Amino acid sequence: MTDFLKQAKELFPYTQTLRRDFHMHPELGFREIRTGGIVAKELEALGLEVTKGVGKTGVVGFLEGAKPGPTLLLRFDMDALPINEDTGAEYTSTNAGVMHACGHDGHTSIGLTVAKILNAHKNELAGNIKFCFQPSEEGNNGEEVGGAEMMMRDGVLENPKVDMTLSLHLWNEKPLGWVHVAKGPVMAGAEQFKIKLIGKGGHGAIPNLTVDPLVAAAQIVSAAQSIVSRNVGPLETAVVSFTIINGGTAFNVIPQEATLEGTIRTFDPTVRLTVIKRFEEIVRGVGEAMGCKVEMQVKQLTPALINAEQVTEKVQETARRILPAANHDNNPYLTMGAEDMAYMQEKVNGCYFFIGSNNSEKHLDYGHHHPKFDFDEQAMINGVALMASAAADILK
Ligand SMILES: [Zn+2]
Ligand SMILES: [Zn+2]
Repeated sequence: MTDFLKQAKELFPYTQTLRRDFHMHPELGFREIRTGGIVAKELEALGLEVTKGVGKTGVVGFLEGAKPGPTLLLRFDMDALPINEDTGAEYTSTNAGVMHACGHDGHTSIGLTVAKILNAHKNELAGNIKFCFQPSEEGNNGEEVGGAEMMMRDGVLENPKVDMTLSLHLWNEKPLGWVHVAKGPVMAGAEQFKIKLIGKGGHGAIPNLTVDPLVAAAQIVSAAQSIVSRNVGPLETAVVSFTIINGGTAFNVIPQEATLEGTIRTFDPTVRLTVIKRFEEIVRGVGEAMGCKVEMQVKQLTPALINAEQVTEKVQETARRILPAANHDNNPYLTMGAEDMAYMQEKVNGCYFFIGSNNSEKHLDYGHHHPKFDFDEQAMINGVALMASAAADILK
């Protein structure tokens, strides 16, 4: 009785109604008041033990199975992005400048549907389920840490202690029907860097009397390209991207300072340390060679997201059984995007899987974080069926 595809299809109107409502009322990270309120109300209606305010706006529903067993945490993120929606959908955002452009409206709706299904089958569960509705996955949004870490600070992995986690992402880079469950690293770890080059300003026509931080900035951007091409092995992966360069106010003035910002992405911890070490050496070395004083910080945003072997194998088995018509992909699929579920999976064995959600015939194929992003809602059926069935299989 753990094949929940039929139930997922029957409950689709519920999932879709929730999704469209969340989509029309998106909320930024740590401000998911309305969203969290609906989540809490729905979980309470099922009779679950609900805790609000876990990690500020996070909500946790606790379901005790009929028989003793491990505790499984299912995580769904709830936050939207500061983007002006341009989809023209009938359920378009009513909150100007805020949009569900990553699919977290879908994740929250999938989570509530899974809770409904598993609650109806709690007599068959040997163990407990924590339904974890997480705020602020997309960044810290002004707080010290992001949503996953904030919930962990508030003890989401304790009382009872969580033994395993499952989580998912609707994935618009791949078509509806694609289901990806893979062992090992699946999402990159991310660092954010900020560099300040302090030179000596002066007249643009008399550069010999200045120390030009813009020339130094240009050299640094070029020199840093050698890290990935010359310090990272050909079969390893890393990204070094400069995304902000600021400096200067007038065409005839060499500025005093320039700032550079950007991000580093890696999967392997050793590669990560090599890249950061070379990056610091090159930035400092080149900046100082150009005569500038260099101030820099490299801050870790998230570790790499790594799927544990055993629980992932179980999810793979379940996926093949309950979604026989799907295009199953268990190959390493490394995405350079970052995901803060990595913090929970650093502490607890977990499996994070992807559900293909684009449909080019319906023009639902813009990438995540695009103002025209929208997904094929049918993908939520696959998400619900796999999440509910995998949880039930694990707690069999
Ligand atoms: Zn996102
Ligand atoms: Zn996302």
